[in-house]
Amino acid sequence: MNEKTFIKDYHTYQKHLWENLIDGASHDLKKDDAILYNHLSQSKKKKPFIMQSRIEHHPDVSILLRKLEAFERYDTPAQGLDHARMSQDILKLMKKRDQLAKLHNFESYKAMHMDFDDVKEINIKTMLAVLIKKEEKKRQKLIRKYRITYDNFFKKLKMIGPRPKHDDATLIIDKVKRKLQLGSFDKHLKLSISKDHISGYCQKVGKNDIRLASHPIVSMAQLKTFLHELSHAIIKVYQDDDTMTQFMRPQKFEILACVVEQILIDSVCTVTERRHLNNIQVLENARLSISALFEFDLHDKRAEPEKLFESLVRDVFPLDDPKLWVVDSFRTTDALCAQYYPLGHVAALNLRSIRKLEKIKRKQLGSWLETNILGRINEIDPATLL
Ligand SMILES: [Zn+2]
Repeated sequence: MNEKTFIKDYHTYQKHLWENLIDGASHDLKKDDAILYNHLSQSKKKKPFIMQSRIEHHPDVSILLRKLEAFERYDTPAQGLDHARMSQDILKLMKKRDQLAKLHNFESYKAMHMDFDDVKEINIKTMLAVLIKKEEKKRQKLIRKYRITYDNFFKKLKMIGPRPKHDDATLIIDKVKRKLQLGSFDKHLKLSISKDHISGYCQKVGKNDIRLASHPIVSMAQLKTFLHELSHAIIKVYQDDDTMTQFMRPQKFEILACVVEQILIDSVCTVTERRHLNNIQVLENARLSISALFEFDLHDKRAEPEKLFESLVRDVFPLDDPKLWVVDSFRTTDALCAQYYPLGHVAALNLRSIRKLEKIKRKQLGSWLETNILGRINEIDPATLL
């Protein structure tokens, strides 16, 4: 496999993905998948990214994945979302991924993922259970106060806290630069702020071309999303290189993004904002932990997903419609990734305790971040932060 051509084609794929999601373009991603698959099938390397991508861009997976990406496509005029049809396609996708992982001598797709991961499934499950338990009181109070159910989760999240003090994305970036003294990291960053696309997304689409999309920052939840995507952008700027390393272990970069996000929150937000953002985090931790645990269990037992989903959600949130499991994000390219968000939060808090012990002051956060995280992006093993 020619790595230079692969990187170029991979960036084109990411650009098309971006344009579809943000600019309303309609690139046929199956064509990009075919080009990438052609490259990947020539590689003999056993690296996780190569092996996983060979499955994700496989023609049979590509067809299902591209179909499942937008759940609007399963809408019917009479009854809204056709859960049954979507459920069939998700289970088909899981089966196909399993078959392909077996060709690489893994017992299943999940076994392959877990083999590449430094944190093992049993430890992930324990850490998530501990987190859900630890935050139970606070979470229940919030659920009661805002009348949150699993079904109305995102709508209610936007109602937590006041409108942010700073709602202009460019001004927030300037504040991050000033407070953390990160230089001109935004030189190659293009912003797209609009309510017409998804609420948050960051993608590198070429050398020196990093894109960040966000809804207008009119709620605390949106401020949090923006700071999270900005963290991805900062990591991508610091990691910028022209080798395959930039694509390695993408899930792990989620943990690092959560770590950077917490530092941005600690350095640019007011005390009141930090309190509300933490409340949102507590609710997100629970929702994403459920997503991760559900996905793990569904991989082991494919029958009756609704019952399984209900049994996991009911302990944490009121739930009206258990059929909702089909819109969880693992149906797309985020398979087996949900755990990295709550675990990222655990890592962020661990690092904050270390900074406390080291007596790192707020104004020293930028240099701490550069020395300990951003300056060693490629070598850092996020599992050691947990
Ligand atoms: Zn992220």
